[in-house]
Amino acid sequence: MCRHLAYVGPEVSLKSLLIDPPYGLYRQAWAPRMQRHGTVNADGFGIGWYASGDPVPARYRRAVPIWGDPSLPDLARVTRSSAVLAAVRDATVGTALGEAAAAPFASGSWLFSHNGLLAGWPASAAGLARVEPLLALEAMTDSAFLWALVVERLRSGTAPDIALAATIDAVEAAGGTGRFNFLLTDGRTIVATTAGDTLWYRRADDGVTVASEPCDDEPGWAEVPDRQLLTAAPSQVTVRPLSSLNEGIGIR
Ligand code: GLN
Repeated sequence: MCRHLAYVGPEVSLKSLLIDPPYGLYRQAWAPRMQRHGTVNADGFGIGWYASGDPVPARYRRAVPIWGDPSLPDLARVTRSSAVLAAVRDATVGTALGEAAAAPFASGSWLFSHNGLLAGWPASAAGLARVEPLLALEAMTDSAFLWALVVERLRSGTAPDIALAATIDAVEAAGGTGRFNFLLTDGRTIVATTAGDTLWYRRADDGVTVASEPCDDEPGWAEVPDRQLLTAAPSQVTVRPLSSLNEGIGIR
């Protein structure tokens, strides 16, 4: 995904979060302002959101550009949520196309997106994991593969921030290179990494938004430097270097 966004806070419509902001995710599909790699994000999109009282999110993903889906504006106007993760995709060369390759990827109550690439995919994956996770991939993309590595850690009880940092650490320790901006939520907390691309956050109106780039020119947006791990809830945002986490707990 080349631009992604997550929000946790008071209930809002998907339209007010994604479509209405002057430089929001909808517009970022054809006119991103800060994208470092690629120009347009026209290879599909996905929105995941949580309905009240249900911990398992719903997803709406399409292979068409977000502006080419005539059903979305109506759906987004009437759908409200207090936790959302959405992405617009610029497919990396050599990865599968289609709806199943569009983030967010999901497992149980988790939603995940990856902005970046694993260099040399798919050949480079062979040395990075046992073969089983590769066989179960939802789509033959680098992002689905990296998500499988994160899910393995989440399922074994690893905390979400450690799961993201440990995945990057393990991939790089095995010689993998690329860009690894991850975004993960369970509907209550957002966890994200910066490793090669842009990331910003803003706390406003009792909620918090974490996004590849600011969705408007209003005050309050803060940029996250590279190689950081961010944890965000409406009441608090913390940003720590990825390296401090790795060194501190010996996660490899
Ligand atoms: N590699 C991922 C994909 O192909 C993400 C691409 C990106 O960030 N532009 O979906």
